[in-house]
This record gives sequence, structure tokens and C-alpha cells, in this order.
Amino acid sequence: MKIYLDNNATTKVDERVVEAMKPYFSKLYGNPNSLHQFGRETHPGIKKAIDQVYSAINANDNDDIIFTSCATESNNWIIKSVWLDLIKNGNKNHIITTEVEHPSVLSTYKFLESQGVKVTYLPVNREGFVTAEAVKNAITEETVLISIMLANNETGVIFPIKEITEIAHEKGILVHTDAVQAVGKIPVDVQDLGVDFLSMSAHKFHGPKGIGALFIKENIKISPLFHGGSQMGGLRSGTLNVPYIVGMGEAIELAVKSLPKLNSEIRKLRDKLEDELLKISDTFVVGKRENRTPNTILISVRGVEGEGMLWDLDRRFGIAAATGSACASEDLEANPVLEAIGAEEDLAHTAIRLSLSRFTTADEVDYTIEKFKESVERLRAISSSYAKV
Ligand code: PLP
Repeated sequence: MKIYLDNNATTKVDERVVEAMKPYFSKLYGNPNSLHQFGRETHPGIKKAIDQVYSAINANDNDDIIFTSCATESNNWIIKSVWLDLIKNGNKNHIITTEVEHPSVLSTYKFLESQGVKVTYLPVNREGFVTAEAVKNAITEETVLISIMLANNETGVIFPIKEITEIAHEKGILVHTDAVQAVGKIPVDVQDLGVDFLSMSAHKFHGPKGIGALFIKENIKISPLFHGGSQMGGLRSGTLNVPYIVGMGEAIELAVKSLPKLNSEIRKLRDKLEDELLKISDTFVVGKRENRTPNTILISVRGVEGEGMLWDLDRRFGIAAATGSACASEDLEANPVLEAIGAEEDLAHTAIRLSLSRFTTADEVDYTIEKFKESVERLRAISSSYAKV
């Protein structure tokens, strides 16, 4: 058996996406900026992808959506541009974020702090949640940007971005949301959310790795991160990655079409898996189920080292899971969200994240339930700490 339950780290590329991309490698390979027919032949594919992305997040024609190389780039770009455009040249110097953002956001804020910017990192409660009230209370006269993810990568907890945006805009503060774990899992509507900037990444919704996008609301001007040949209206220079842009367009359209399946069939499978795993003694799941993306479970299993469990699931049973974000998985660090919610020291290393996708089957879930229980039993039997509990 080979079972993939690490879809928050990355997803399998949908075969239909691969097919849509193929012609753009060796047949329609022109540079879109070239005036000759080879260049022009790429335009319909690019136009289609742009339409697919705009429509998937309900952007309007005057908004900008700029393709990037990944969401790490989108996050870096928007945060550093706010710093360059509004903080260095203005009189406000404060940004609000949370303790549980992805490293591509947190590390960028750490860099800004080294440059003298004041950053508030809001803590999360026991449910891994940040209230709009907490955000409101953190606002000062100097706040220029609020930057909070739409859904958390570890827990799937969904943050109240619409409410936060309403509060922010009353005070003239811009809002950025990292929607990487939300797009393709829950409906994402930029007009309804009201956000000024939104980051996304194709490989989280069955598109290729190496392509993401940044949404910028109409009438907001930000500095480019890359200067060069003036592609993408001068906002992001560099020859367009046509096959990947086409792939992202196809992937996001398919992901939005699959939302009903994810939110019914896959949600039911996730709930079954969660219910069964919670029958194991001394376990808890972070986040209220109704306020999480439909595919994610972050479970803590007392007395079982997450890394050991991961090894057991993978090497003995062929089940791929995770203990923390993939970028940090070589560090053997405690799960950042369990630390942030204030879990006791002995629990911080016990987190296992299981994340399903639209391709997960009922048989895979049944097998995982059986093997997970078997693994916990075995690891607890050899754990010196669990016996003492
Ligand atoms: N933001 C969140 C919430 C993520 O989960 C990830 C990837 O795990 C990223 C940003 C970075 O995305 P990318 O791999 O496209 O750089």
C-alpha cells in the first residue's frame, strides 16, 4: 500500500493539468513577448489561464493577478513592497500578523524587524484561532498592514479574514492574506473577503510546483520585486513560464469544480478518520471541526513522538503524513502550532498532520485507521514516558 495523506505539503498534479500543459513545452514554446507567430501562438493559452484564475477567486477585471514562482515569492514580495513603499517613505511603522503564519511570512517579518519595523505577532487560542477582536485591539496609530493567513497549514483552522478586513479598512489599514491552504479547499472570493492582497500556490491544488500568484486589488500600486523586461505590466519581470501558467489556470478551475466533492465526500472521510483516531485514549485534535478546511487533521497522541510515528507509518505501512510544515521537517522541532497554542512540553512533539485530497479513497482511510491504531499501540508500549502518564 502507498497512501498519500500529506496534501497540505503538496498534491499530485491532476492528469488533466498535465495534458493541458504538454503542448506548451515543445509545440507552443514561443516567448509570449515576441511579436512573431511563435510568440502570438501562446497568447490564447495565457489568456485562458488568466481568466480561469480571475474567475476562481472572483477578482474583477481591474484587479491585478500576477503570476509568481511560488507563494513564498508572493508573500515576500507583498511584505517587502509594503515596507519599501509605505513604511520607508511614510510615517507609519507597524504590522500585525500571527504566531502561526507560514515561515515564508514569519521569516520575512523577522527580516523587517531587523530593519526597524515594529511587528505584532498575535498568539492563537487553544483552538488555534485568532479573533477579529484580538486583531482590533492590536491596531495602533502606526499600523499600516495586517497580514493573516486564511487557513492554517497545520490545523486547517480558518481565520475570520472578512471581519478583520472590515475593521482594518475602517482605519485605512491594508490587509494581506496568505490563502495558500484555502484556495481549492474552501470557496475563496476576494470581493467578499475584501482583502487588498492574497497569495496562492498551484501545487497545493493539484497544479505544478514552481508557480503561484499574487492578487492585488484595483487601484493599489506596489513596487516590483524583480526589475527587468517589464513583463506582467512591469510588476514582475522575467519571461512568462507559459506551461506552468496554463497548468495553474487548469488546476484552479478543476479545484473550484471539485469543491462540492471535497466539502461532502472528502469531509465525511476526514470526519470518519478523525472520529476513529480520537477513540484512541489521550489524543486531541486542534481546532473546531466546523471551522477547519475539510481535508485536515492535526492530532496529538500523548506518549508518541511525532517523528517516530511518521517513520512507523511510512516505513512499515506506506502511509505518508507530516509532523510540521515540510520546510521545517528536517529540524526535528516541536510542531509550531502546538507550541503556539501553549500545549504542555511533553505534547509539543506529539503532533501528526493528516491531510486528504479529492483523490483520497474510503479504503485508504480504513487502512489508515487500522494501521494508525496499531502504530500507536506499538510505540506506546516501548515509550518510557507514556507508562508514567
Ligand atoms: N503559505 C502557506 C500557508 C503554505 O502552506 C505554504 C507551503 O507549505 C506556503 C505559503 C509556501 O508555498 P510555496 O511552496 O508555493 O512557496
